[in-house]
Amino acid sequence: MEYAFDAMATQSLPIEGESARFPLRRIFCVGRNYADHIREMGFSPEREAPFFFTKPIDAIVQDGSTVPYPSLTENLHHEAELVIAIGKEGSNIPVEDALEYVFGYAAGNDLTRRDLQFALRDRGRPWDWSKGFDNSAPCGPIQRREKSDLPAETQIQLTVNGELRQDSTIGHLIWSIPEIIAALSSAVRIKPGDLVYSGTPAGVGPLVPGDVCTVTITGLKPVMTTIGPRE
Ligand code: MN
Repeated sequence: MEYAFDAMATQSLPIEGESARFPLRRIFCVGRNYADHIREMGFSPEREAPFFFTKPIDAIVQDGSTVPYPSLTENLHHEAELVIAIGKEGSNIPVEDALEYVFGYAAGNDLTRRDLQFALRDRGRPWDWSKGFDNSAPCGPIQRREKSDLPAETQIQLTVNGELRQDSTIGHLIWSIPEIIAALSSAVRIKPGDLVYSGTPAGVGPLVPGDVCTVTITGLKPVMTTIGPRE
């Protein structure tokens, strides 16, 4: 195949304990999936169907990277999230089969231009520019799924400069991992290489240049991101 210019290189993440990497395809994100975070955003946590948004694949940021403070915001926020890495293609997947489609898990950070998100939301406009900007998707190394799945007491924590800002457990997810996969696969055909950011617990807040932000999830490698000066 001949292209008019160099085709985009495949983006990938390391797999813990293996030399082969996980090639990336798409990034899906679940909105409002922890009751305490829904409340802090000013909504009541009814169990309505999960909703999704996306980020471009080249928003991915490897562990240990420095991310320039993005344009179009005065209020960049962190969101600690468990990331589900998809390893098998399928659509309309029943909840009871959904874990077969999970390759593994990673610690992620759904960086958000919060002021822009609220402005877009209030005008009924798409969230894209508040969520899908350059370097908005830090993600740590992928840990292959064990035979048994992540226990409900799996901790998800986020620190800024060593200070604890978010602290919850996977058991607090409103929509469980299998339910997220079932819902997503009813809307699109999921494929190997897809990532699903599963939502953030309460405690989201601002990041400023010089901050070091780390997401830690029990059993997974953490993801550390440094915020650099404005671009
Ligand atoms: Mn999020």
